[in-house]
Amino acid sequence: MQRRLSLVGLADRLTLREQTAAMAGLLCIIVVAVSAAGAAWLARRDAVAEANLELVALARTMSDRLDQNMFERYREIRNLAQMEPLRGLWQDNPARSRAVLMQLQQSLSDYAWLGLAEPNGNVRAATRGMLEGVSVAQRPWFVNGLAGPAVEDVHDAKLLDGLLRKSPDEAPFRFVDVAMPVFGPTGAKVGVLGAHLSWNWAGNLRDNVLRNHDPALTSELWVIGRDGSVLLGPKDARPFDTAQLAGARYGVSFIDRSADQPMLTALAATKGQDDYPGLGWIVAARRPVDVALAPANRLTAVIALLGLAVAVIGAALAWFLAGTVASPLTRLCRSVDLIGRDPSAAGIQRQHGSRDILQLSAALRSLLRRLGTAERGARDAEATIRDVKAKADKQAREAEEKTRRLGSDLHTLQILADTDPLTSLLNRRAFLPFAEDAMNYYKRYRRNLGVLMFDIDHFKRINDSFGHAAGDEVIRAVAKIIAGQIRTTDKVARFGGEEFVVLLRETDAQGAENLANRIRESVGATVVTQGLAQIDLTISVGAAIVCEQDRDIEDVIERADKALYAAKSSGRNRVVLADADRAPAPAAT
Ligand code: GH3
Ligand code: MG
Ligand code: MG
Repeated sequence: MQRRLSLVGLADRLTLREQTAAMAGLLCIIVVAVSAAGAAWLARRDAVAEANLELVALARTMSDRLDQNMFERYREIRNLAQMEPLRGLWQDNPARSRAVLMQLQQSLSDYAWLGLAEPNGNVRAATRGMLEGVSVAQRPWFVNGLAGPAVEDVHDAKLLDGLLRKSPDEAPFRFVDVAMPVFGPTGAKVGVLGAHLSWNWAGNLRDNVLRNHDPALTSELWVIGRDGSVLLGPKDARPFDTAQLAGARYGVSFIDRSADQPMLTALAATKGQDDYPGLGWIVAARRPVDVALAPANRLTAVIALLGLAVAVIGAALAWFLAGTVASPLTRLCRSVDLIGRDPSAAGIQRQHGSRDILQLSAALRSLLRRLGTAERGARDAEATIRDVKAKADKQAREAEEKTRRLGSDLHTLQILADTDPLTSLLNRRAFLPFAEDAMNYYKRYRRNLGVLMFDIDHFKRINDSFGHAAGDEVIRAVAKIIAGQIRTTDKVARFGGEEFVVLLRETDAQGAENLANRIRESVGATVVTQGLAQIDLTISVGAAIVCEQDRDIEDVIERADKALYAAKSSGRNRVVLADADRAPAPAAT
């Protein structure tokens, strides 16, 4: 799970191009690696087989050459022993025999010694007279040669060693012997013809074979004896085991790891030739594995390098192709990303590259169109909502304004309805609720109240003398004087014409009378100027203080009005208290 998540995380960090290139590159590398490994394995197998075959062929060449040379020697000695014309020679003068033997030795320097031994073992004639008269009766070549054609395996020189070796430091001579019985003219066995072939011959032959078949001299050739000992080759060489030697008959190869460095080794057995029976030698051809398999390794390296080159080219191609495949998508992404950011990026360009990309870009373009339509719809709806809201707001504001105006108008109307337009004092209708309220207080709490009634004296005359406008001015002047004299808790109203009424709270008869007189005197002291005219004026006042008998405020007003009438009747410019007011007001309950 964790692994999957990390893979997903990795995938999210890589671009499509990188992922495609990585996968294609990986695929390419796997295919190339498998192919290269297969090819390298096959090539190496063939090259190794080739190296083995080559080495086996080298061993076989050496073994064939050994067989051939031995056969030639064998045939030479046999021919010499059996040649009809020479039959009389061997019992003749030894010097003649020696001359023939010397001649043969000169023709092939590998012959170290050629000699004719009599049947009793004494040497009758020999090359350079060596061992002549010496008995070789005990030597195996003589013993076997007397019985028939014989070949003796490599051995150290015995009798000749002292004669041939010039110094003790020189390596001991080694021979291969060929011996044949020699017959006289009568057919009787007259001796044994023996030849000691210098084993150096085999070394020369080996050098010759190596020069011809391995000019680089990377190989070595050994000759192994029938008993497994090394006849030709390094002295301290480890002999092969019998299982390995057994394969030599068919030509076998293997890697010998017993040496300092692994050696590819091929074995080939000598077989003899015609009547030469062979000595059972085995030729070992050896070559360091590194050298033998160098071509195979080179081939492997070349294939690996080629594979690497192909993989690199494949990966580069994958990167390029992935870029080609992914670039329309990248362009599309960039184009989509710009929408809404860059004012010039109005839409998405139609992208080409594959059917999917074409479809995707078409689908995105269509989506954008649909979004545009939906957006326009939303914008229209929003605008409509805004309009409706604005209208509603406007209507609400207008209604509010209207209400406010109506309220204000109502208030104004109320004021207008309650106010006397000439004096701005309360009118009778507005005055009465206050007076009734005070009456209620009186009835409940026995709070004193009084009413003053004013009337300008002979006002008709003023109107008549100075004009109606002057009359109005006089009315205003009196109103101002009254309003200026009373307390804020008191109320003054114009009752009509040139009559005024004042409601006094918490006032007894005396207080009422005093106030009435103060006002009367103020008015009497006032001169109203109208144009050039100086208008003098007086007022009469009727006062009434509430009493038990008063049923309502109208009773009080009526008593004050009667007192006013009394003031007029008794001469004007005076204050008259209503009768009941003479009695003290009852205490509050
Ligand atoms: P008295 O001393 O007995 O009161 O005599 P008077 O002339 O004042 O008599 P009365 O009260 O009967 O006369 C009032 C006059 O006031 C009658 C009317 O023409 C006049 N008048 C009433 N209202 C107005 C007004 O608003 N302005 C003017 N200039 N005159 C008015
Ligand atoms: Mg009047
Ligand atoms: Mg009057």
